[in-house]
Amino acid sequence: MKVYDLVIQGGHLVIPKTGVVKADIGVKGEKIAAISLRIDPQTGERVIDASGKYVFPGAVDSHFHIGIFRPLDEDALSESRSAVWGGVTTICSYFRTGKNYLNRSGPYQEVFPEVLEKSKGSFFTDYAYHVSIMTPEQMKEIDLLIERFGISTFKYFMFYKMLDLTGGAGGDKYLLLNTSYDLGFLYNYMKEVARANEKYKNYGRISLSIHCEQPEIINVATQYVRQHESGRPLKDYSDARPAFSERMAIKDAEVLAGETHCPINLLHLSSIDAIEAGKEAVGKHPELNILLEGTLHHLGLSNDIPYGRLGKVNPPIREREHVEALWQAVLAGDIKTVVSDHACSTQKIKEGDLWTSLAGFGGTELLFPLLLTEGYRKRGLPLERIAELTSYYPALYHELYPKKGTIAVGSDADLALIDLEKEKEVSVETLHSAQDFTPFEGLSYRGWPTHTILRGQVVFENDKVVAQPGVGQYVKRPVKLHYKD
Ligand SMILES: [Zn+2]
Repeated sequence: MKVYDLVIQGGHLVIPKTGVVKADIGVKGEKIAAISLRIDPQTGERVIDASGKYVFPGAVDSHFHIGIFRPLDEDALSESRSAVWGGVTTICSYFRTGKNYLNRSGPYQEVFPEVLEKSKGSFFTDYAYHVSIMTPEQMKEIDLLIERFGISTFKYFMFYKMLDLTGGAGGDKYLLLNTSYDLGFLYNYMKEVARANEKYKNYGRISLSIHCEQPEIINVATQYVRQHESGRPLKDYSDARPAFSERMAIKDAEVLAGETHCPINLLHLSSIDAIEAGKEAVGKHPELNILLEGTLHHLGLSNDIPYGRLGKVNPPIREREHVEALWQAVLAGDIKTVVSDHACSTQKIKEGDLWTSLAGFGGTELLFPLLLTEGYRKRGLPLERIAELTSYYPALYHELYPKKGTIAVGSDADLALIDLEKEKEVSVETLHSAQDFTPFEGLSYRGWPTHTILRGQVVFENDKVVAQPGVGQYVKRPVKLHYKD
C-alpha cells in the first residue's frame, strides 16, 4: 500500500542540533511525515535511493538581492534556478526603494504589492523578503508590513548617507530621499522595530539587519587610496573601506540597540575588527539575541586573488588573516549563519573603474560546496554545523522555523541530497546564473548537490532543473503569526 508520496531511502540525514543519522524519510504532500530507521520502499509512490549521500535540510539563503540590478522577475527566474542547483530551497531577499530594484520610492503599501506581483511565478525556491525602511513615512508602515505582508526583518545601511565617492551620487539622490538617513534616523528606526518586537513577541522576533560600515571614514580613506593606488584593485578597495570602519559602525549600532532594546542582525562581517566588535555586542546584550552573519565570499576569497574590480563588494574582500579569523568565528559558533549575499550582475552592469563600478556579485550555488570543502574537509567543521549555518539558524533568526530549517516530522520537506565526493571546478558555466563572470573562477570544490526537493517536489536532479518556475511560494513571517496548521 502506498502511504507516502516520496520515500528517500538509505541516506545519511544531517540533522541540525542532532548530528548525522542513517535513516529514511517519508514525505506526504509538502511535509515530512516520517523519519525512521527503515521505511518500506513499497509504501512510496516514488523512491529516491540516497545511499552514499548526505541529506541536508534545504538551505535557507537568507541574504540575497533579487532584482537589484536586473528586472526583478527575470532575475528571480535565473537566480533562484541557480540556487536550486546549489541545494537552496528558500531565498530571503532584500528590498528597498530608491535606485536599482524598482527604481522608485513611495509607501510600501503601494510598492510591496508590485514586488509580490513580479515575484509570483518567477521563483524555483520558496522566498521571503526583508524590507528597508528609507523614510519617516515608511516607518509608520512597520506593523502593516508585518501583518499584511509577512515581513519580520527590516534593514538599514550605515554607509548610505555619503555615497559621493562610492556610488557616483550623493546618498539622497541614490536613495531618492528628501529626508536625512543618518544615525538619528537609525535611532528612530530602532525604537520602532523594538516596539514592534514587543508587540509581536508571542509570534517571534522582529529584528533589524544592519550593514555596518562607517561612511565618513570610507570617504577620506577612499580619497587617500585613489591618490596612492597600488595596482591591486581588491587590496586598494579594502584599504579604502578599512576594517576599523566596520568596528566603528558596529559600536554605534550596539549602543543604539542597547538603548532602544532593538534586536539586530549584523550582516556580512568581513574582518577581525568586525568579529571582535560583533562578539562584544553579543556578549553585552544577550537579551537582544544579536545575530552575526558571514558570507561565502568573505570566507572563500582573499584580496590577493588575481581578480580585478569585478570582485568589488561591500564590505570588501580582505587579507588572508581576516579570512582565517572568520573561519575561527564560524568554528567557534560566533557566526551563526553563512549566506551568499547574492547580487547577480554582469560585466556590462559593472562597467566603469574600481571606484565608479557597482559593488556585489552572486554565488548562491556555492553554499554547500564551499562550506564542505573549506569548512568540513579543511577545518573539521562538522556536517551538522553546516546544516545549522545554512538552514537552521537562518530559519530561526528570520522566523521561518520550524516550517523551514530542519529535518523533522511536520516541517516542509525541503531537502538537499549531497554527494560529498563529487568534485567540480567553478566557472561561469557551472554556476547556472545570469552572471557572466565569477570571482570564484577556477577554484575546485568537493561536495555538490545531486537532488533538491522543495516541499516534497523534486526540483533538481540528474544535473537538470526539473520543475517549472512558479513552484516557489512566498512565505510570510513570522511563520507563527501567519500559519496556523
Ligand atoms: Zn547584501
